[in-house]
Amino acid sequence: MTKPLLSIKNLTIDYIGETADFRAVDDVSFDVAHGEVFGLAGESGCGKSTIAFAISRLHKPPALIRNGQILLEGRDVLGLDPRELRSFRWREVAMVFQSAMNSLNPVLRVEAQFYDVLRTHQGMNRSQARERTAEMLRLVDIPPDRMRDYPHQFSGGMRQRIVIAICLALNPKIVVMDEPTTALDVVVQREILQRINELRKTFGFSVLFITHDLGLMVQFCDRIGIMLAGKLVEQNSAGNIYTKPQHDYTRKLWASFPSLHGARLMEVAAS
Ligand code: ADP
Ligand code: MG
Repeated sequence: MTKPLLSIKNLTIDYIGETADFRAVDDVSFDVAHGEVFGLAGESGCGKSTIAFAISRLHKPPALIRNGQILLEGRDVLGLDPRELRSFRWREVAMVFQSAMNSLNPVLRVEAQFYDVLRTHQGMNRSQARERTAEMLRLVDIPPDRMRDYPHQFSGGMRQRIVIAICLALNPKIVVMDEPTTALDVVVQREILQRINELRKTFGFSVLFITHDLGLMVQFCDRIGIMLAGKLVEQNSAGNIYTKPQHDYTRKLWASFPSLHGARLMEVAAS
């Protein structure tokens, strides 16, 4: 097997409490290959976001990493110093949250927000940044002349695509997406995910995709990990996780899933 891009080994994370600690992530190990879309599924509170934050080195107290390793191309992510971290975030790992579209600065034109990132991380001047911004906006189906607009002049779906375009502008190796489209309507969700999939084929980045929507996950991911109370209880291909679930809990998750999606998922699993 070729070397994985991202390797999580025996990751254990506690939230430190006044009287007791809470184990949110319990001895979790998985790999994400170059160019792969790996999904993390499981009910609310099972530890998905805690893992996403640790991979991006965005975790902070009371979260404490008790044990384990996070390796990106063999490099120890948990050992990076503050200077190394600045280039690691954005250039190596980009993160898109559910509320990312609200993280755009309301008083700055879209153009200025791209410029900020491109100048800081790639030393671009204004005209170089403008060119790159136009290219990135085109990739997410936003007319480049709209870079002069402010965030409030765009719909929620467009704002989320702008954030994704900013994230991809520095060519990260992996994009961690934590419920990236949950706040959007179903049609917009699918459009965005399809676009990300096409971009992934062009640029070759990997995706760690987190959602509670198993139907969406099966259609979008290569492999899926199922989490239950901090533990990764199953890892399987997207097809098998529906047709041949290994763990009882995976079967229960499917059983609780609206049957409406069933026929569609059978098609996906069969394809
Ligand atoms: P998910 O993303 O799967 O919904 P989280 O990773 O957000 O789950 O949370 C995992 C568990 O850790 C939950 O039980 C949650 O209550 C707990 N948790 C999350 N953040 C904190 C925090 N800052 N302090 C204490 N406990 C937390
Ligand atoms: Mg979460």
